Amino acid sequence: MTPTMLPLPTFEQTFTELPDIMFAKVAPTPVTKPEAMLLNDTLAQELGLDPDWLSSPEALQILSGNQALPDTIAMAYAGHQFGHLSPRLGDGRAHLLGELVTPTGQRVDIQLKGSGVTPYSRRGDGRAPLGPVLREYLVSEFMHAVGVPTSRSLAAISSGESVWRQGTEPGAILTRVAASHIRVGSFEYAASQGVEFVKALADYTLGRHFPEVENSEEPYLSLLQCAVAKQTELIAQWMSFGFIHGVMNTDNMLVSGETVDYGPCAFMDTYVPSQVYSYIDRQGRYRYDHQPGIGQWNLVRLAQALVSVMTVDQDSDAVVAKAQAAINGYEQQYKHAYAQHMAAKLGLQGDTATLVDKLLAILAKDKLDYTLTFRYLMTLLAPTSTAYGMPEQAYIASPALQKWQLNWLQRVEQETGPEQALSLMSQHNPIFIPRNHLLDAALKAAYQDDLTQINDLLEVIREPFTYRPEWQHLALAPKPEEKIVSTFCGT
Ligand code: AMP
Ligand code: MG
Repeated sequence: MTPTMLPLPTFEQTFTELPDIMFAKVAPTPVTKPEAMLLNDTLAQELGLDPDWLSSPEALQILSGNQALPDTIAMAYAGHQFGHLSPRLGDGRAHLLGELVTPTGQRVDIQLKGSGVTPYSRRGDGRAPLGPVLREYLVSEFMHAVGVPTSRSLAAISSGESVWRQGTEPGAILTRVAASHIRVGSFEYAASQGVEFVKALADYTLGRHFPEVENSEEPYLSLLQCAVAKQTELIAQWMSFGFIHGVMNTDNMLVSGETVDYGPCAFMDTYVPSQVYSYIDRQGRYRYDHQPGIGQWNLVRLAQALVSVMTVDQDSDAVVAKAQAAINGYEQQYKHAYAQHMAAKLGLQGDTATLVDKLLAILAKDKLDYTLTFRYLMTLLAPTSTAYGMPEQAYIASPALQKWQLNWLQRVEQETGPEQALSLMSQHNPIFIPRNHLLDAALKAAYQDDLTQINDLLEVIREPFTYRPEWQHLALAPKPEEKIVSTFCGT
């Protein structure tokens, strides 16, 4: 039987309705020998794509950039990088193929990353090494599995070409799916070009992400408030899972509130509030406990861009005061979101601020593993259940923690009851996380063409809350000699 050609998904491109300074029409650069390394069938289905299409030669051509689609663009944006403004960054190695509308009516961007140079490449080669591509694929899959808003990964394709970084490395292309790629930096760029561009981008963003406030009295103020709400919720979730993004530049913050641009990101093993992993973050600007504050700092950049369009028909002092009030609301909203996520991790619903503070102080002092501490607490409620469990002897509670747990157990008894507490905890405390040392080992093996460890990790992090004893080696904290102290961006 002759195989039939599967129809090309219908890509739309609405971003090009914006003024043309906001993007550049540019096709990806073809690669020599594309090969699919990871294909995300589940995500394909969610997008309304046929998984058979995803694994077809036609898809490989498109997702490697070898077959150009007519409306492909690179987006323009600026960005505050480590606190300093770069007025013109833009997609230097990414191509937006277009948008798909999913069966549930959601519009998402389909973007290639590592797909060749664009007018925004500056001195870069437009490419991505295999390591960071696989890392982004895995970590974004995990984030999705635990319910953190995130860009997703549809495919990782090896290019058959080498890229030069620390030495030569195999090149790869990631297909990224996101609610959109509109960044805080997109607004900063628009603002540098003129107020009419901010207005166009803000109207587009409202229509795409916040239609519920599009017709409000002050839509641009509402846009800022929505962005604050999304970001506080996002960062509260990062913090609750011990996630460190690593490069929270304004060009790496999406207005939609999804996590994006997984570079030297990592999950904490031992709880260290000042933890930095990123090799490039020498000052610790983006360390774990700075993230909430940096989120607010970035939103001030968004506010400054939006103020220009808000002052068109209003007194500027009044506008600034309103924008400032939205920014000031960040702290309270963040606190609230964080408290909710932490309470859930403890199986409680009321005010747990003091309990959480005490717990974290103990973890820091006694150098305990962040993720396993919460699983340990779960085992106190359900010592025999394996699904809620953890590997035996994986965790030793310190005397201070054992004392704290009495208090906590009492509250569980009084407030939620062990059963309900456990059910809540089991949805907020993963046992399997893409720990640094596991990722590192899996990526090293992938460089030797062995994807077994990558696939094993994918297997467990897609069902991160369920303990399966056969995978116990992937649930353990690193041994001292396995600990990774620094992560490379590897761009
Ligand atoms: P990132 O640190 O990955 O968020 O990238 C910051 C900026 O540098 C963005 O404008 C990227 O498009 C650009 N960039 C990063 N790596 C490359 C590369 N290899 N080639 C061209 N541009 C790049
Ligand atoms: Mg970036």
